[in-house]
Amino acid sequence: QEKDYQFMLRTKNPGGFVPPQLYLALDQLADEYGNHTLRATTRQGFQVHGILKKNLKAAIATIVKNLGSTLGACGDINRNVMAPPVPFKNRPEYKYAWEYAQNIADLLSPQTGAYYEIWLDGEKAISAEEDPEVKAARQSNGNGTKVHDSEEPLYGTYYMPRKFKVSVTVPGDNSIDLYSQDLTLVVITNSQGELEGFDVFAGGGLGRTHNKEETFARLADPICYVDKADVYEIVKAIVATQRDYGDRTDRRHARLKYLINDWGVDRFRAKVEEYFGKPVAPFKPLPEFKYEDFLGWQEQGDGKLFLGISIDNGRVKNEGSLQLKTALREIVEKFHLPIRLTPHQNLIFCDIDPKNKSAIQEILDRCGVVSNPDEIEPLVRYAMACPALPTCGLAITESERAIPGILQRIRALLNQVGLQNEHFVVRMTGCPNGCARPYMAELGFVGSGPESYQVWLGGSPDQTRLAQPIVEKLHDNDIESFLEPIFVYFQKSREADESFGDFCSRVGFDAIREFAAQYQPE
Ligand code: SF4
Repeated sequence: QEKDYQFMLRTKNPGGFVPPQLYLALDQLADEYGNHTLRATTRQGFQVHGILKKNLKAAIATIVKNLGSTLGACGDINRNVMAPPVPFKNRPEYKYAWEYAQNIADLLSPQTGAYYEIWLDGEKAISAEEDPEVKAARQSNGNGTKVHDSEEPLYGTYYMPRKFKVSVTVPGDNSIDLYSQDLTLVVITNSQGELEGFDVFAGGGLGRTHNKEETFARLADPICYVDKADVYEIVKAIVATQRDYGDRTDRRHARLKYLINDWGVDRFRAKVEEYFGKPVAPFKPLPEFKYEDFLGWQEQGDGKLFLGISIDNGRVKNEGSLQLKTALREIVEKFHLPIRLTPHQNLIFCDIDPKNKSAIQEILDRCGVVSNPDEIEPLVRYAMACPALPTCGLAITESERAIPGILQRIRALLNQVGLQNEHFVVRMTGCPNGCARPYMAELGFVGSGPESYQVWLGGSPDQTRLAQPIVEKLHDNDIESFLEPIFVYFQKSREADESFGDFCSRVGFDAIREFAAQYQPE
């Protein structure tokens, strides 16, 4: 008899969009086939854990029949395309970001019919009307001709050397962690709010391997500007460059970030221009990027409201007095609200009629769900952890289950050293793959042994700077003794309003180590 293999299913939701019907289907799947929880991911999808092999087909078919998909949520292919989750209807640039996130997802979607043959007995999904320009752009392979005699004009026979991550955002909005993506498009509009084109970043990526210097986290570089008429061609040119020149001999060296790092930006840009068929335009200046989580009740700019709900580590569940899963289901059932998942593992209910606000608030209050972000401990609000143990096969140690306790300990320590009002971005993962993007955090923990973490310091509050590793293996028991002198140094020597990450980056690790070596607890 075959073993009861268990699987994790991950959905693909460009821009984090989850229609109400899909949410209800996923909620039910989690109960029927999964572990009674849903997990919002850092790429704006949902994961359902614990699905037995015999139930996979029914589960995937249910997702597809309810306007969802899992195609391309994993694998050596374009992953879920991210976009800012906030539904501002009076800011056209956000509408473009959503529209192009969907279009790029369609453009880079595999064309194989195998997915439908295997999971839906050949039945094609009911899909929304596709943009004709996207459809036309899909027919060529990235340098203007269809050379592959294959169902996959762009990917060819072997797909990509590794996974490929794309996001679309608007100037100033770093809710999607743009520097960590293989490719990011930034919407550029004119003074009337009409779309003109996109700034293009490429070459970010965080996954690495411990003790392998040749693997590293890397920030994306500005590459060029492209008019909207050429946007699909530039995306294909970049994908095709990585497809043809990305390292297929060593998976650890196969991401676009290594190609750009090895070549340098100029050589990479020149190769992309060959595929693109003409020179690219220079990158347009952009304002500083800021991180926002869009929590709480807010106006969305068309008379309606949106509500961002914080989900601790993305885990939608019922536990004790917190009946989050019940609350979300009831709200979607009663009010049919579309959802945007956020890159921070939270969720936004969109298009809320103000007359329904009190009824929704009543459900949240009854189920113990906090809707006012000011009532959330800020260390918790801005923290993220990946699932790790027990559901992720790559996990070296705990993450999601460990972070609540560790945040409490960090809060106690901050209070003890006179930093009661301080908070910063803490991120934790169970392995160096870095799914919760710990290398961008002000304080990052990366699993490096049983109950032990590599510690990263010095990222920025807006995730615009890479953190640096300061210690390779810190045992969970030693977190206080390690952090206390650093917090005291911060408390004594910070500049006005300087964040913890900015402080660490300014003074440098030598100074931190020197202070820590001389530190005597009072
Ligand atoms: Fe990702 Fe590693 Fe965490 Fe697994 S343990 S979810 S691979 S970071």
